[in-house]
Amino acid sequence: DFGLGSWPARRARISPGRTALHQDGRTLTYAALAGRVERLAGALTRLVVRAGDRVAYLGVNDITVFETLFATARCGAVFVPLNYRLSGAEIRYMLDDSGASVLVHSPDTADLVETAGRLPDGVVITTGEHGGFEAEIAAAGPPPETGVRLEDPCLLLYTSGTTGRPKAAVLTHANLTWNTVNQLAHLDVLGTDKALCIAPLFHCVGLGQITLPTLFKGGSVEPVARFDPGTILRRIGEAGITSFSAVPTMLDMLCRHESWDRTDLSSLTCVLYGGSPVAERVARAWLDRGVKLLQGYGMTEAAPGVSMATHEGTLDHPVAAGVPHFFTDVAALGPGLTPAPLGETPAELLVRGPHVFGGYWNRPEESKASFVDGWFRTGDVVKVDDDGWAHVVDRVKDMIISGGENVYPAEIEAVAVRLDDVEACAVVGVPDERWGEAGAAFVVRRPGARLDEAAFRAHLEQHLARYKIPKHVQFLETLPVNATGKIRRVELRARAAETF
Ligand code: AMP
Ligand code: MG
Repeated sequence: DFGLGSWPARRARISPGRTALHQDGRTLTYAALAGRVERLAGALTRLVVRAGDRVAYLGVNDITVFETLFATARCGAVFVPLNYRLSGAEIRYMLDDSGASVLVHSPDTADLVETAGRLPDGVVITTGEHGGFEAEIAAAGPPPETGVRLEDPCLLLYTSGTTGRPKAAVLTHANLTWNTVNQLAHLDVLGTDKALCIAPLFHCVGLGQITLPTLFKGGSVEPVARFDPGTILRRIGEAGITSFSAVPTMLDMLCRHESWDRTDLSSLTCVLYGGSPVAERVARAWLDRGVKLLQGYGMTEAAPGVSMATHEGTLDHPVAAGVPHFFTDVAALGPGLTPAPLGETPAELLVRGPHVFGGYWNRPEESKASFVDGWFRTGDVVKVDDDGWAHVVDRVKDMIISGGENVYPAEIEAVAVRLDDVEACAVVGVPDERWGEAGAAFVVRRPGARLDEAAFRAHLEQHLARYKIPKHVQFLETLPVNATGKIRRVELRARAAETF
């Protein structure tokens, strides 16, 4: 077994006494983690779990989710972390879709589990003392040998579903291992590092960007249950945190927090972000404090890293998606659906590498359609600048075709948020009799800002060609976002179609 489930035991051979996980005063060394993972795997096998089974999980980032992830992998089963902010019906859908035979959940998600309904032939396990979880871990022996192979599925991750019906990417032990190798080829992760695990683990950014690489190197990881900017800034200072990975919204909330100026950030050796574009203002706030800031670009299907900036590069290209990872090939989707070199003309990005998944769970057609010639179609429009840096222009599906011209909402949004009065902006397409499609901008003003539509338009007109200026503008209190801070464009499109 060279799979993810063997990592704690392998790591414990090299650095048994080092801290693997730490949270709220509780510490597990690699030796302790390895022991608990073995016993929990034993308990799971004796209960119900067979190789290939799906084990769903509901709960915030804590030590238990790591133990359950490794123990599930050790059984040769597939871990399915679910978003605890979803509704009971959405959870139900994912339990059915994944065919989970076990649902492990923390006590504070009991109500959600109740509304999601029962597992027809499965078992629900509540973690903590009362659920008997601790007793199971204490009592069990190791699991039988399962003969896990690297190409076996390890993780089902539901993509954040900003479009369409959620589908699960199947990530193998090999995908996760190669992603770790790619991250380590790029980052200077050390066994003395202390990483905060802020992004939720049901999303690939949380697991892949810095958490698994840190555990692989024998560093320590501190799971953060809920995102609270004040607490995180305090922990960075008092625990000497060296690294963390976050989505841009989180970086923005941190640098705007009242204790930002007083926080000692000197222990940080790198801060990673990705998942959506970052505003230059936010990147600058961190760079101005001397923090080594690295943008990663990727997606669930790539486990997740595709490219990453270098610190030197970030100074000159703060919003670029960087250069491809060590074991990653990139190309553009050329004419006749064939791979072509990436260039200055925006084109759909293709990705290939041992970390790229093989397909979606139980979706043969969608899986087939997402590859051409063995390359994964990312659905992202990318171009390369003069210095060879990749820039994500937009998503293919978000592109607006207005009067025959391609309009990229992301470009307009980036210009919009340069206005100090604008806190957030999203542009979507609406059907238009004259142009086929027209742009509709939803704008959130900063508290106290007096910006009106005329001033907003004047700013856009200063920086953008006429055909890119949205035909409609509406001010909103907030934008609808999902758990990872991504704008829910489906909702905005529906709203635009109704309103304009
Ligand atoms: P997900 O489906 O949740 O895995 O999200 C992957 C998508 O997020 C990508 O296909 C991109 O559209 C977007 N994304 C990820 N990282 C970045 C980034 N650094 N800059 C811009 N967009 C990004
Ligand atoms: Mg996606």
